[in-house]
Formats: sequence, structure tokens, C-alpha cells
Amino acid sequence: PIDYTSAHSSCGRTDDDKMIVLVTGAAGFVGMHTSLTLKASGHGVLGLDNFNDYYPVPLKRARQKALLAAGVYVAERDLADEGAFAEALGVCAFTHVLHLAAQAGVRYAVVNPQSYVRSNLMGFVEVMEAVRHLDKSIPVVYASSSSVYGLNTKQPFSEEDRVDSPASLYAATKKSNEVMAHAYWNIYGLSLTGLRFFTVYGPFGRPDMAYFSFTKAVLAGSPIKVFQNPADGGELSRDFTYIDDIVHGCIRSLETSGASGKGVAKPPRIFNLGNTQPTEVSVMVNAIEKATGRKAIRKFVPMPATGDVVSTFADVDHARTELGYSPSTGIEEGISKFVTWYLDYYGPNGYERATPEELAYKGY
Ligand code: NAD
Repeated sequence: PIDYTSAHSSCGRTDDDKMIVLVTGAAGFVGMHTSLTLKASGHGVLGLDNFNDYYPVPLKRARQKALLAAGVYVAERDLADEGAFAEALGVCAFTHVLHLAAQAGVRYAVVNPQSYVRSNLMGFVEVMEAVRHLDKSIPVVYASSSSVYGLNTKQPFSEEDRVDSPASLYAATKKSNEVMAHAYWNIYGLSLTGLRFFTVYGPFGRPDMAYFSFTKAVLAGSPIKVFQNPADGGELSRDFTYIDDIVHGCIRSLETSGASGKGVAKPPRIFNLGNTQPTEVSVMVNAIEKATGRKAIRKFVPMPATGDVVSTFADVDHARTELGYSPSTGIEEGISKFVTWYLDYYGPNGYERATPEELAYKGY
């Protein structure tokens, strides 16, 4: 249910030049940080999230608490429920939508493929339909993913690369969003921007991701499983991107979206938001060892065939030119900030303040 009094006060902006943004997935990792930064910059923000239990819910509740303390209200609704997003969109005079809610993760699709169809496809259509019925001039910025590059071997990955062979169901739903965006632009002239995030990490991050579960294991003295490339036994690498850089890219995308004169929407835009520094997983583990002062027990195992790719590397020239995007946090600094948060949040040894649900969580 939406508490209208809280929603209206949450939407308040400091002056007319500012945006009023409806953020889906606001209790998620990227959603919380972006909502807090928007609010702190004087924009109005209303969040929407279904608080699903894909990973432990206490962390989502903690993010909600931080949002509430900053004056950001999160309506507890499921995007895929018909009309739920439309109801939220009718609450305030929104100027923008930031659509981040999704079923994330590539491996969980083996366990629960339907959740990807429901949140990422049906949810996306609910957003598009509500905007086209209520106010076509509201620009939508939505999260895509570096996973759309699939088994692309040409590096760095550029938005111009042809990507039509996703390696996971997750990637297939994100690529579908980009394709659907073209249909909604062609038919209704909606203003749409897709952001291909590259492995985002930082404080309040996602427990299902490797940097998070590795930190938990290193602090507990448990072994970590490091995936190897089945083709040559080499390491996987990721273009790890610090959360503050992603938040900046999201906000610049909102600020630069919209009609390009005479109310005509710009063609759908796609931007890579990465760090342009492909980094071997062992370098990330070294950074965890340094930040925690503990040794990792590494077990090398072949990468399972569940949708991961060997390497990611973003070309961000378009985002630099059009958004002024400029990633600035390296892996050591970023992991150090993450570990500082982790110990503060879970306790000095990494578990004292964790709930039983969080301690038992093993990821996918
Ligand atoms: P997250 O899981 O922390 O956040 C997503 C939020 O959406 C969650 O709080 C979840 O409860 C909510 N949600 C899911 N389905 C919903 C539904 N049907 N209705 C309402 N709420 C729903 O993930 P994140 O890391 O913050 O990712 C944000 C977006 O960025 C997602 O679209 C994700 O696919 C994309 N992305 C993330 C990364 C990354 O490395 N974190 C990389 C590429 C793309």
C-alpha cells in the first residue's frame, strides 16, 4: 500500500529547477545510493520496491531505514502487479523515472527463471504502459547490464557491438528491455535511456555478489571458490565499478534525458557505465585481504556453465562525451570503503550484528 501523506512529502523538491524522480528498486543497492544522492541534491524522490527475498531482506530494510532518515519514502509494491506502478506514478507530479527494480544475478535463473520474466519483462512493460498512458513526456532511465555482451570477444565492449547471443536468461531479459525501448519510442515517442552497468560494488552492496561473499568468508576463515576459465584455466576478470561512479552516471542520464526541442523524444539511448579497468578476481581478493588484514583461503574451481562470462571491459567514450561520466575510484580504494562499511554494519569481526538469515545465506 502507498501511504499518500509520506509519499507527497517524499516527492518535495527544493525548487522548480529540480527533478521529481520515481525510483523503482529503491531499497536495492544502486537504488538506495542514487535516491540518497538525488535527495541530498534537492530533488524530490519517491521509491518503490517489493522487498523480495532474493537475498536477505534485513539489508533491504536497513537501506529503507537510511532512506527514511533522509526523507525518502519507499512504497512497498510489486512492479509486476498490474497497475501498481501506474498508481505510484499518479501520486506526485513526477518529472523523471529511474527504473532499477529487477531480478538481478545470472546464476539464480537456473533456480527461478520465472522471477526474471515477471520482474524484468512484465515489470518493464508495466513501467512503459503507465508512462505512455499517464504522461509520454516523462523520460525513463532504466538499468540494463554489461551481461548483454554475452560471449563477445572483442574488447573493450562498445555500445556499437552487435549483441544478440546472451549467455544467461538474465542477460536475455536485459537485452529484451533495450529492444522493447525501441518499440515504445517508435510507437509512442517515449524518451528512454538504458544503462549497461558493469559489476557494481560498494557499501550496502549485494550479498549475492562475489566481493561480498568473499569478504564474509575471509573474515570467517572459510575458503572462497575462485572460478577459472574452463578453456585455459586462467582467471575471470571484471570491470569492477564503484557505486559512486554509477550514481553519478545515473543522475547525469536523468539530467540529460527528455525531449530534444519541440517535444520530440530523442531516439533510445544506451550507455556503458563501467570503470574501463578489467581486473582479475584475484586482484579483488588481494584488496579484500589488505582491507581486512586476513588471509583468503582460495579454492580454484572451473566456472560452472550457468551464465557467467570470462571477462568484461567497458568502453565508456559515449558516456564521457554525452554525460560527462568519469569513473574515478580504483579497486583498492573501493574495496577498502566496502570493508569499512561491512565491519561497521555486521560488527568488528563481520558477524556480531548479522541476523540468523544473513549468517545462513550462501548465495547462488
Ligand atoms: P538489487 O537486487 O539490490 O536491487 C533491485 C531491487 O529491486 C531490489 O531491492 C528488489 O527488491 C527490487 N525488485 C525486484 N523485483 C521487483 C518487483 N517485481 N517489484 C518491485 N521491486 C522489485 O540490485 P542492484 O545491484 O541495485 O541492481 C539495480 C539494477 O541494476 C538492476 O536492474 C540490475 O539488474 C542492474 N544491474 C546491476 C549490476 C550490479 O553489479 N549491481 C550490474 C548490472 C546491472
